[in-house]
Amino acid sequence: MEIYLDNAATTRPDPAVIRAVSGCMEQTWGNPSSLHGKGLDAELLVNVQRKTIADALGCTAEEILFTSGATESNNLALRGVASAYGKHKPHIVASAVEHASVDSTLDALEAQGFRVTKVFPDANGQFTAGAFLDAVTEDTCLVSMMAVENETGHLLPVSAVFRVLRRRYPHIIRHCDFVQGFMKTADTVGLLTADLVSVSAHKIHGPKGVGALYVRKGVRLHPVLTGGRQQKGLRPGTEAVPLIAGFGEAVRQMQTYDVWKQAERCYDALEKRLAEMEGITVNRFMSGVPYILNFSVEGIRSETMLHFLESKSIYVSSGSACSKGARSRVLTAYGVPDDRADSALRVSFSAENTVEDVHALADAIAAGQQQLIHKNTK
Ligand code: PMP
Repeated sequence: MEIYLDNAATTRPDPAVIRAVSGCMEQTWGNPSSLHGKGLDAELLVNVQRKTIADALGCTAEEILFTSGATESNNLALRGVASAYGKHKPHIVASAVEHASVDSTLDALEAQGFRVTKVFPDANGQFTAGAFLDAVTEDTCLVSMMAVENETGHLLPVSAVFRVLRRRYPHIIRHCDFVQGFMKTADTVGLLTADLVSVSAHKIHGPKGVGALYVRKGVRLHPVLTGGRQQKGLRPGTEAVPLIAGFGEAVRQMQTYDVWKQAERCYDALEKRLAEMEGITVNRFMSGVPYILNFSVEGIRSETMLHFLESKSIYVSSGSACSKGARSRVLTAYGVPDDRADSALRVSFSAENTVEDVHALADAIAAGQQQLIHKNTK
């Protein structure tokens, strides 16, 4: 039996999502921009999903843009704001633990002449509003801060920081990468306090290749792509109707259960088992979500343990799936020493996981320690 514990990388598509995608491809394959009935059917379908996602985020349907995923949402948010506001305000502030789709975009903007200030966590691994206030200047156009860090599960105080920023610097645009929090945390990022929010479908049992960007009414954004007039010209291109159908269905399915609550049981069980084992350090920083747990197994490189677990049909991750084996820049930013970062594993739960999965994982890690450390010292 397979035990999938890498839900922060991606989630298994919900059967209802698969039905929605294929049903749409069979029946609602018109182009939403076409003026005839087939186009209208597709447009209506897109609009229903737009409303579902808007309701889940607590905004209006007009404020939702569909994209190809959160990488595009993050690019559109950062590049779109930089282009619209950056001429007079060429400074951007972001946390130092952002996902590569934000971090690398900032590097690209820096190469174009923007100034970027990264805010690091303090000695306790915390971000404070004060640190962001210290970083912003009169020419800051944008602050970007993720809600749930994807490698450690750290729950960042986005609402608190954004509320202070809004009061002191109402003209600075506030962007939140909400990918690992959407439909999983109770806080909808204090959406009231963010101007731009990125989400992705495949982290919530939806299809890959579709996401959304919430753009608060009144925020100016320049498009990154040029093309037709779809989605107000802000995101031209024929909408990915079947994927959007799946995205909406994924949101509706997620509304029927509580990932946070179900993951808590797994998290507590794993934490307890790890505490009883030798040579394990949990990499946790103050507040965290119960569906991501990062820990290091002393003396065994992440990939070695990952593949050992895979041989037992248990799937976990070494840091972020997007960093493909390089040492985690994020763990380093949190002050995790190199040897611990090199032996870090990330376990991430969905509502499908059980306490039995956790025991199987802990038993397999213990077996791996026996076998792999022994082999290393031979
Ligand atoms: N932001 C975060 C926090 C993520 O975890 C991911 C996915 N690893 C992304 C952005 C990118 O999302 P997508 O795969 O939809 O491009």
